[in-house]
Amino acid sequence: MDNTASGITPMSPPPLAIPNSSKVATLQAVDTTLQLYVRAENFLNPVLPGHEMWNCTAMAFLITNQDTGRKILFDAGARKDYWNYSPVTAERFAKGVNVKGLKIDMGVDEVLSRSGMDLGGLEAVVWSHWHFDHIGDMSQFPSSVRLVVGPGFQENLLPGYPSNPKSPLLETDYGGREMEEISFSNEKRQIGQFRAHDFFGDGSFYLLDTPGHAIGHMCGLVRTTPSTFVLLGADACHFAGSLRPSPYIPLPDEVSGLAVSSSPCPCELFMGCHPAPSLQEKRTQPYYTASTAEKSVYVNPEISNHSVRGLMEFDAHPDVFICLAHDPSLFDVLPIFNQNPTAHINNWKEQGYKETTKWRFLNELPRNGKAGRPPLVEGFWRDGKRVDVSMAMKR
Ligand SMILES: [Zn+2]
Repeated sequence: MDNTASGITPMSPPPLAIPNSSKVATLQAVDTTLQLYVRAENFLNPVLPGHEMWNCTAMAFLITNQDTGRKILFDAGARKDYWNYSPVTAERFAKGVNVKGLKIDMGVDEVLSRSGMDLGGLEAVVWSHWHFDHIGDMSQFPSSVRLVVGPGFQENLLPGYPSNPKSPLLETDYGGREMEEISFSNEKRQIGQFRAHDFFGDGSFYLLDTPGHAIGHMCGLVRTTPSTFVLLGADACHFAGSLRPSPYIPLPDEVSGLAVSSSPCPCELFMGCHPAPSLQEKRTQPYYTASTAEKSVYVNPEISNHSVRGLMEFDAHPDVFICLAHDPSLFDVLPIFNQNPTAHINNWKEQGYKETTKWRFLNELPRNGKAGRPPLVEGFWRDGKRVDVSMAMKR
């Protein structure tokens, strides 16, 4: 069995109190085509030998209310012409602050329109948060498409460049369209540990207040059948090993589906690099917490860790499947919109996607101090060619 750890009784999670509803939304996983190779130091704590760099894909989601047909995009990947980000963001690339490899074949706008989708049919783009790999290039979307952002966004992030020369955002990222900021302050509803906003007003999609990584960070909770849910984890944490193992989901004795030679795998192999001192903790605590480095990408690592503990309660629930934005394992298993524009993941439970993807992050972990996986992408790519970073960032 996949869910047993010898001698360890999983803790029972508290109830999530998700309101009842029969209204569901179709959920589609979109490959933003972004591939990154990123320094771990500012993301993961501690830095493990052999995992000083981590591989990063990026998933966006199309959500369609099945009753009304209202359609939104949750996150928009990166812009294809990444050299045209605001000067502050572009300078971070040029200096190699976090990103050591970057490749993007298509903007999400292009992915959607190439499939035959009319972008004018989108009601809104929800930014889980304002970082470059989630905001896409909004200038490619019709001005009728609203922008939905999280608490504190307008006060802290606006105006963009050039009005504010130091802004990480461009005025064209949000200008000329309606913007809705979800404040959560008047929400009486709480799901799990998070304040929740009922986006369509019928219980088919909630936005969850999940602070810690960036100002206004939100997760999504999609009702995929009346009783099953997918939690869009965005960047509440960046790596599935920050979420698992947990007291609710201990590392089992055997895990299938791993890229190590012996299958089922001896999990001892993956406990070697776990920073916790005791065997009990290695099996019940995640590998990582939020980086506390000086240049951490977590605006508040402590609050972020609290949000992740809240996510663990969802992860423990057999009717909830968590999809983090940057989990490469999801691409091994989920049907992806890019290949089939009618593909959806509403049947995730019967298809067993949660069980199949749960421990695949172990493949990325180091073994005996050596990287578990080769780099997803090395260096900066532009127009299909690897180029020097100064050439990559040339406008
Ligand atoms: Zn991100």
